[in-house]
Amino acid sequence: MPRRLLSFACLVVVLVGCARSGPVATTVGTAAGGTAAGTPDASATRPATASASPEASATPTPSAPARVDCTKLKCVALTFDDGPGPQTPTLLATLVDKKVPATFFLVGRMIKQHPATARRIAQTPGMTVANHTMIHPMLTRIAAARAAAEITDNTKLIQKTTGVKPRYFRPPYGLHNNRTDAVAKKLGQAVVLWSAGALDWQYDTPAKIVEVTLPQITPGAIVLAHDIHPWTIKAVPSLIAKLRAKGYTLVSLDDILRNPRAGNTYSRGLH
Ligand SMILES: [Zn+2]
Repeated sequence: MPRRLLSFACLVVVLVGCARSGPVATTVGTAAGGTAAGTPDASATRPATASASPEASATPTPSAPARVDCTKLKCVALTFDDGPGPQTPTLLATLVDKKVPATFFLVGRMIKQHPATARRIAQTPGMTVANHTMIHPMLTRIAAARAAAEITDNTKLIQKTTGVKPRYFRPPYGLHNNRTDAVAKKLGQAVVLWSAGALDWQYDTPAKIVEVTLPQITPGAIVLAHDIHPWTIKAVPSLIAKLRAKGYTLVSLDDILRNPRAGNTYSRGLH
């Protein structure tokens, strides 16, 4: 599919996702609509800097965020996919400084390159490590056994590397089906999509990312961004400030979903 068409399909999907209300428990089995299939979230291709020193740098430890009631407050949850990358520690320091929880959907290939960062995320109060497959394939377009291995192997890798058993799974490009959902269920993971996309695979300036993200956000929103992009990391402080100015409380997936069921699909949280 031509890149422009793919991008359009992605935009449509993001907008459709935004229009939904309430938790979604349906599967998106086919690739129709692309479900963000054009997102070149390039974990699979982006080279890693082998330097370990930035990952080992100390990040201040925040106090554990208080549990909040998202049926009463305007909640929004930030999620970051495709890392950990070389600049993830910078993002982590920003989130800690601003006392904002977040969930990181980690790709196995990247965990192998930045294991210390994966551990640091897991050890930072308020932060959640989650499953985004080993090499970021389109799970609905590969053999079922291979798709299952992508989900299961990364679960094991996250556990081995961070000591944490992931409870959330996000299929790359949002592409999942009954078979992948069943694997997630068996592993005790809820399938988490998103309702607002930062479109940081399309735009590469912090101002533009904030500009396109904010209008998509309503109470209960789950925001998809990518911590492999420097412009995204630069956009985060402004995004947080503007969300707070609009009365939003930034919360974890645990708070916005509150006891999600393994194998079920969620695009939004409580509101
Ligand atoms: Zn991804």
